[in-house]
Amino acid sequence: MPSLALPPGKKSAFVISFDFDAEEVWLAENPENINRPGVLSQGKYGAKVGLGLVLETLDNLDLTATFFTPGRVAERYPDQLREIVAHGHELGHHGYTHTSPTKLSKAEELEELLKGKAALEQFGVEVTGYRSPSWEVSSSTFDLLAQNGFKYSSSMMDDIRPYVHQPHQIVELPVQWMLDDAPYFWFSVGSDWNRTIRSAGDVEEIWREEFLGIHGLGGLTMLTMHPQFIGRPSRVNMLERFLSFVKSHDDVWITTAGEVARAVN
Ligand SMILES: [Zn+2]
Repeated sequence: MPSLALPPGKKSAFVISFDFDAEEVWLAENPENINRPGVLSQGKYGAKVGLGLVLETLDNLDLTATFFTPGRVAERYPDQLREIVAHGHELGHHGYTHTSPTKLSKAEELEELLKGKAALEQFGVEVTGYRSPSWEVSSSTFDLLAQNGFKYSSSMMDDIRPYVHQPHQIVELPVQWMLDDAPYFWFSVGSDWNRTIRSAGDVEEIWREEFLGIHGLGGLTMLTMHPQFIGRPSRVNMLERFLSFVKSHDDVWITTAGEVARAVN
């Protein structure tokens, strides 16, 4: 059984991850949104305002994160991508568009993989991680990742500890909706995400409880956020409080997804 080799003195791992989807998530939800600038402005906020507030919060706490970014977002917002890299954060693959692999043929999925990787590697970084759009994978996904030089995935919900997909030798860094900001904060008219907006304080409490639970079991807390949702003023304030709380535990290894994947053997 492969296991996570934690640094001396550390009892669990913690990764701060963002899916920098900007407009792509709205375009994937409904291609006709291309003609709806008002709808798209919800995603644009992530690139225009949310990302900057998030980067400032991470700087204040001296923490590094992983930004899973669709290739088309990287092409549309090169300045923002350069900023992420300049702050020492990791870039991960998140599709070229934000299309679920379950809606693509194997050839189309390969094309998304290659175009997305090339778009991110323009920024002078090596991309070894993949998070599937909408956390959906096809029967070809892990074969394609293995064949194209990827080392890890962060898309599955079947564990609280990293594991290895066999026979592909791709490390999995598991996720969960309760540690994602979207189910609490993603509200939009006329979409699947039409639900009650939660207060930042409620979400802080849920995240604290789950982090403490996973920490007690020696697992990996994979926090997943979106600059367009977490980047609202009240929520970045909550994020700063929550991450300060996590940081106050000396026995938590807070690092990037790529670093955790490298420690699995
Ligand atoms: Zn996404």
